[in-house]
Amino acid sequence: MKGQLLTNEKLAKYTSWRVGGIADTLYIPFDKADLIEFVAGLPANEPVLWIGLGSNLLIRDGGIRGTVINTKGRLKAMYRTEDGLVYVEAGVPCAHVARFCAEQGLVGAEFLAGIPGTMGGALKMNAGAFGGETWSLVKQVDILNAQGDVIVRQPTDFTVNYRSVKGEDGEWFLSVLLQLPEGDTIASQQKIKGLLEKRNQTQPTNQPSCGSVFKNPDGDYAARLIEQTGLKGYCIGGACVSEKHANFIVNTGNATAADIEELMSIVQTKVNEQHGVLLVTEVCMVGEKL
Ligand SMILES: Cc1cc2nc3c(=O)[nH]c(=O)nc-3n(C[C@H](O)[C@H](O)[C@H](O)COP(=O)(O)OP(=O)(O)OC[C@H]3O[C@@H](n4cnc5c(N)ncnc54)[C@H](O)[C@@H]3O)c2cc1C
Repeated sequence: MKGQLLTNEKLAKYTSWRVGGIADTLYIPFDKADLIEFVAGLPANEPVLWIGLGSNLLIRDGGIRGTVINTKGRLKAMYRTEDGLVYVEAGVPCAHVARFCAEQGLVGAEFLAGIPGTMGGALKMNAGAFGGETWSLVKQVDILNAQGDVIVRQPTDFTVNYRSVKGEDGEWFLSVLLQLPEGDTIASQQKIKGLLEKRNQTQPTNQPSCGSVFKNPDGDYAARLIEQTGLKGYCIGGACVSEKHANFIVNTGNATAADIEELMSIVQTKVNEQHGVLLVTEVCMVGEKL
């Protein structure tokens, strides 16, 4: 093994919310081949959690029993294939994918520019913005299973919905082949610039968060419903409903995962009482409570 194996590692620094307890073990692979070998060597019943940039994760304060695999800064190959597709490994940041596609004169990936996660996380979440969605670009994926086998899968092997992707249990995304139509590089780059400006105007991008906490209910916006409850600026400990975007909870410095979880529950209760809508969490909640 050429990667880094850490024990009792604090996970707060691996999440965009900057909260989370300790992982029994955290593995940072050297590259794809190294990761495959590591996973193949794990005990059969070892609990495994893959994380990318931790930008959609609430890791509870009691941490993770088992092994966490972190692909941040690893599995970062990306290139144009001979048949014009784009090969992207799981650790490549979404912003790099958007820029690379634009430079290649391929259009449709601009929405990925402002999503602060990896391609692996985007595949798992069907990340999307401004009308674009990750899986609308997917031609084929390579997955790794718990036995260490690499399997090629097609989009039809998955149930893909709004911020939800269901495949076989115990499989993770190693890489993807994206298929995009040809278009104009300059127009695509300008679109990226415009989308990033729009994000900065409407989102608290300078404070630790996980983006939208709740999914938008059919035909409505979670932010609109939360704003109407008057909870903007409401805090539990160091966790506050953002003044700038009501569907963001920001860590003002000393929030714990428990603060965030309690605030999420208050938001859900208030919205349900006032609007009769039960907001569903978009953020993935994992780990043990303290
Ligand atoms: C400021 C801000 C703005 C955001 N804006 C958007 C937005 O506009 N649209 C949007 O959709 N999201 C948005 N997000 C949420 C987040 O960036 C996306 O969901 C992103 O796709 C998560 O990627 P990640 O690598 O950080 O995944 P993580 O948060 O590390 O993980 C998320 C989930 O994916 C799983 N996972 C990670 N890597 C893999 C893999 N290789 N194989 C299988 N499972 C894996 C994890 O186990 C976990 O269940 C935003 C977040 C922030 C902080």
